[in-house]
Amino acid sequence: MAAFSSFPRDVLIIGSGVGGLSTAIILAKLGFDVTVLEKNSQPGGLMRSYTRDGIECAVGVHYLGSLDQGQILRKFFDYLGVTASIPVSRMGHDGIIDRYLFDISSGNHPATFDLPEGLDEFEEALKQTFPKEQEIIVKIVDPIRKAAEQLHGLDLLYAEQNDFSLLDQSQPLGEILDDLGCSPGLRSILAIPSCWIGVPLQDCPAYYHNMALASYVSSSYRLQGSGSDMADALAGRLQELGGKIVTGAEISKILVSSRVVTGLQLKSGESLQASTVIGAVHPKVVLQMLPQGAVKPSYRQRISGLQDTHGIFSVHARVDGNNHPEIPYNIFKVDTDSDGNVPDLRYYQIRKSEKEGVNLLSILSSGKDELWAPWTNTKSGRRGHDYSEAKEKHARQLIGEAEGLFGSFKGLKMLDAYTPLTMRDWVNSPGGSAYGVLRSSSQMLATAMLNRTSVKGLHLAGQSVMAPGIIGTILGSFSTVKSILGADEFREVIRL
Ligand SMILES: Cc1cc2nc3c(=O)[nH]c(=O)nc-3n(C[C@H](O)[C@H](O)[C@H](O)COP(=O)(O)OP(=O)(O)OC[C@H]3O[C@@H](n4cnc5c(N)ncnc54)[C@H](O)[C@@H]3O)c2cc1C
Repeated sequence: MAAFSSFPRDVLIIGSGVGGLSTAIILAKLGFDVTVLEKNSQPGGLMRSYTRDGIECAVGVHYLGSLDQGQILRKFFDYLGVTASIPVSRMGHDGIIDRYLFDISSGNHPATFDLPEGLDEFEEALKQTFPKEQEIIVKIVDPIRKAAEQLHGLDLLYAEQNDFSLLDQSQPLGEILDDLGCSPGLRSILAIPSCWIGVPLQDCPAYYHNMALASYVSSSYRLQGSGSDMADALAGRLQELGGKIVTGAEISKILVSSRVVTGLQLKSGESLQASTVIGAVHPKVVLQMLPQGAVKPSYRQRISGLQDTHGIFSVHARVDGNNHPEIPYNIFKVDTDSDGNVPDLRYYQIRKSEKEGVNLLSILSSGKDELWAPWTNTKSGRRGHDYSEAKEKHARQLIGEAEGLFGSFKGLKMLDAYTPLTMRDWVNSPGGSAYGVLRSSSQMLATAMLNRTSVKGLHLAGQSVMAPGIIGTILGSFSTVKSILGADEFREVIRL
């Protein structure tokens, strides 16, 4: 590995989501000459919110975990230099981060389970809810404690041993719970974090579930501003460090000569030269941009055969703020089967909007691809009246279901709804997948070291390379920089 000071300095990054921007900031801090190219008119990707009726509607940032001192996201934000420009409010003051609501007709569940802040509190809440399963609960929570230590200790970036030797819990959590003889009620509570990251419990590697849960239970926050404010804070920080962001710049080709990257070609036909290119977009999107013969057929097969996470359908509506005050925690309505698996859930958030006396109700649910199949070959904004009607009908059903929980909404006005097709077209996510590549136990080998490619100078970043979510994606950015610099150089120059 060449010394860091002799590395070529010019870097082009495809995509300005949190993956592209955070990778760019890390490299700009190290003195690289970085340009981020974004197809949309504004930077931020899924992080960016959009405005309806003067109200900011969130897409990919509803809450953030681990921003307390010494915790992983706080370390990342401090290093990136954005902690002060992304103001947040801590959740869980009243003892609740998430409230899970269950259908009690199966007899398996309590009607509600409140997820508290803190792993000791979580263990205690489980023991109180399932007093006959105390021993099982200890066996379940111990590895989550270990995962929290590894997460906040940044072991995945700094541990001496290979990253993957840390991941000693690759067995699906579902199987572990079967072996422990866990009840369906307890199982369904533990299934929810794996749903957040789009992986069913039966195929979710235990470490992956444990890290996701640990990242939120350690501490959780809401943005005081909007997702767009967060995107602008990261974009502004990059520009302050001398990095460039070019919007309206859709990349169509990655230029490669004799398996060495040489630059990028834009849809407009313009070419840009660089000795390092980072695709901070879905790996399948990068693959489509590569010329035939640039990578081995086995790599092409591996990436094109990857299974992705499902899409999401979301509704935003304004409601009267006096009748429906802000709820300082998230609410999940959880569907369970008789074994305690969770085939589906709905997420609800009611929070203050930019308008006095008006609150915003946001609902997220699974994408239901079959509903949008007739419009698969259409583009955003050109799908016609039938699509708008189908979307509105589905959104009204979800709002009706929410009224069953919250009571009839006063001052309700639907602001917007989006489908997996919207997301597919907006951020170029294959099939409208919400969280990128499915990081399941079955795909363990195929998803290993996704940030490396066999083209010299070409690297990947973004939510698919390590894990989704703001934490997982930024972790992936650091890991990509580590693979560019080499582990020793990384340890030497990046102190988190
Ligand atoms: C509905 C939803 C809710 C979520 N809620 C949360 C949450 O509450 N908390 C949390 O931590 N995480 C949440 N997440 C996950 C989190 O938002 C994502 O993991 C993260 O934002 C992904 O960032 P990224 O940079 O990998 O991808 P993206 O944000 O998709 O960025 C990719 C960028 O590349 C651009 N691009 C694509 N193709 C090209 C091209 N050819 N040329 C140029 N540019 C291109 C796209 O336009 C886009 O801007 C949520 C995700 C979804 C979908």
